[in-house]
Amino acid sequence: MVGAWEWIDQLGLGVATEINADEAYHAYREIRLLVLSVLGLTVLLLASLLVRLTRSREKAVGLAENATLVSNQLQKEISVRRKVENVLRESDEYIRAIVNSVLEGIITTDESGKIETFNPAAEKIFGYKDSEITGTDFRILVADTHQGLLEKRFERYRASGTSGLPGSSLELKGRRKKGTVFPMELSISEMRPGVTRKLTMIVRDITKHKRLEKKLRQLSSLDGLTGIANRRTFDRALDLEWQRASRNADPLSLIMLDIDFFKDYNDSLGHQAGDDTLKKIAGTLRILFKRPGDLSARYGGEEFVVLLPQTGPGGAGLLADRLRSEVEMLGIVHPGSHISKVVTISLGVASLVPKRGSRPEELVSEADKALYQAKDEGRNRVVKKDLIEHTVELKSGAE
Ligand code: GH3
Ligand code: MG
Ligand code: MG
Repeated sequence: MVGAWEWIDQLGLGVATEINADEAYHAYREIRLLVLSVLGLTVLLLASLLVRLTRSREKAVGLAENATLVSNQLQKEISVRRKVENVLRESDEYIRAIVNSVLEGIITTDESGKIETFNPAAEKIFGYKDSEITGTDFRILVADTHQGLLEKRFERYRASGTSGLPGSSLELKGRRKKGTVFPMELSISEMRPGVTRKLTMIVRDITKHKRLEKKLRQLSSLDGLTGIANRRTFDRALDLEWQRASRNADPLSLIMLDIDFFKDYNDSLGHQAGDDTLKKIAGTLRILFKRPGDLSARYGGEEFVVLLPQTGPGGAGLLADRLRSEVEMLGIVHPGSHISKVVTISLGVASLVPKRGSRPEELVSEADKALYQAKDEGRNRVVKKDLIEHTVELKSGAE
């Protein structure tokens, strides 16, 4: 039992009292039980603490994972939103850049025509600054002569809500800030942002276009070589004057002239000299027939015509005589002529008052007949046909 003593002593209880072996063994068992219980309880406590800790950790991990998911989702949404915003900003800037750089004036108004935006091209066209014109009625930009037309369109738009303005393309006279009037093309369309209605006016200054159009019209109506009216212009003028003379029972006269032996002229002096002579004769016609309404034209080749509205046989005959002598007096040397040393012309004159149902070709045909009669009778002369009273042939010439 010495071992028991030693053991107890080793415990350091300081009570190394002499006891018997049974008592020592009993004490030893009690102490061991106590120690084991304390140990067991400690283990249990630690285990439950561990379980709790594990659970809370799992919860914490779950929460953290959820939070990460939500945060990722948010990040994604934010990035998508940023992208959309960027795209919108870029497209807005893009549209603005287009609106600011186009040559057409772009003006937006409310449905009553009050100006809301005015792009740089519109500023340039009309001479107003965006800041000074915004809030003003669009009609200030239209010339007085076209106010009525535009107002009617606005009225129709107000009444119908759809037609009158949207989809229209109008050619109007615009008015600049300094008061000058110019031709403009106006295309109108409608936008409906939300519940309001807006109008977009696209304006094009067509001054240059109109000028070019006029020039082209002139070019297509003139003879390329001589610069006087061409056959097409003459045909149109004849139709018009025929109708007018028919309505008013006015006389209408036509002089038809042809250069004598012009083939021989070309043959002896060349085609270029022939062209120059054609130009000189056209020049004489231009000088001689200046009265408004009179029209001299190149009919074809070396044939010319002069249409004389409100002119009877007397006046037309005198003018034809004058023309014949003016050409002769030009003194253009004609080595190939069989009748003269200079260029001469033969002329046929017809005068009539158009009857109902008659055609303008009648006048041309009569003048042509007179011209060929002048040729037949020796050239360098005028044959006149008065078809107003009765057909009278009057001849005059150089002989
Ligand atoms: P006539 O006295 O019977 O009228 O005789 P002509 O020689 O004038 O008549 P013809 O019809 O036989 O010849 C017309 C000539 O006019 C033929 C052509 O060479 C010439 N001619 C027609 N157009 C032009 C042109 O544009 N330039 C030039 N240089 N000559 C032209
Ligand atoms: Mg001829
Ligand atoms: Mg001829």
